[in-house]
Amino acid sequence: MGEFELIRRYFASAACAAGAEGVALGIGDDCALLAPAPGEQLAVSTDTLVAGVHFPEVCDPFLLGQRALAVSASDLAAMGATPLAFTLALTLPTADAAWLEGFARGLNRMAHNCGLALVGGDTTRGPLSMTVTVFGRVPAGQALTRAGAQVGDLLCVGGVVGEAGGALELVLGRQQVAAEIAEPLLARYWSPQPQLAFGQALRGKATAALDVSDGLLADCGHISRASGVALVIESERLPASAALETLLGAERALQQKLGAGDDYVLAFTLPPRHLAELQAQWPQMAVVGRAEAGEGVRVLDARGQDITPRQGGYLHFME
Ligand code: ADP
Ligand code: MG
Repeated sequence: MGEFELIRRYFASAACAAGAEGVALGIGDDCALLAPAPGEQLAVSTDTLVAGVHFPEVCDPFLLGQRALAVSASDLAAMGATPLAFTLALTLPTADAAWLEGFARGLNRMAHNCGLALVGGDTTRGPLSMTVTVFGRVPAGQALTRAGAQVGDLLCVGGVVGEAGGALELVLGRQQVAAEIAEPLLARYWSPQPQLAFGQALRGKATAALDVSDGLLADCGHISRASGVALVIESERLPASAALETLLGAERALQQKLGAGDDYVLAFTLPPRHLAELQAQWPQMAVVGRAEAGEGVRVLDARGQDITPRQGGYLHFME
């Protein structure tokens, strides 16, 4: 199968390439044309996943297709952007029809979930890797950056953190556990659900936001530095995960909640006046701490003792 046949069969004819509002021209020309409405800004983010580095060499292509798009779409959620379109640069060692069919199906599923149209890409031969670039739209000046946290704001998360990190042991086949524990954790890793509607609901309310990709502690460090405030995490307020706590025990579960990446849950700062309204609509969110004058991120236990781990999140090599 030649390059053009491959593009046509698996990508250009895919449901997610059918075009959408805000896409003036899709796959097939030298460039796609995006047409956000007047008064909107374009939010753009790109992520590369490399086999053996960001996912196991041997894995289900359907899950990989889902995950490749989800991790980028999560960046749109973190900015409060509305999904518009994406491009896919795919490097493949061989044109394996079964693999491509599974990958395209996973990609389509997540594109449909997120409301993202495939508008272009590139297809090359080489070691397996994929780069997804996502485009979103946001009313000018309303994007949620990392830089607006204020002293007195609440520190919040959009849901459970740490489960994808717990799943990594299972993904790498290092640990065997009962299906009822493994399944919710593996689902978190392979099919992260970008918090797109929630991110948009945070516009005009949250003062700073990001998606947790390097671990809550490290990512709170990004908000702290960008905003010029200190952040305090009260560890006992981090949402519970029965599966994670059963797999690892309370102490290692807490380490995962603070240090593990890959969950793609939003973390944000919120003036207290917005809490009741937001929580009524999004009951899975949780207040986990606060912004104070100063710098850095501290973790406190139930008695208020400082238990900040010395090492932050997982620092990726060249990422
Ligand atoms: P060019 O030579 O202009 O870069 P290509 O031959 O690489 O064009 O691609 C032809 C068309 O197919 C372009 O519109 C490109 O965006 C699209 N395309 C190529 N690879 C992919 C892919 N993996 N997914 C989606 N679209 C793709
Ligand atoms: Mg090209």
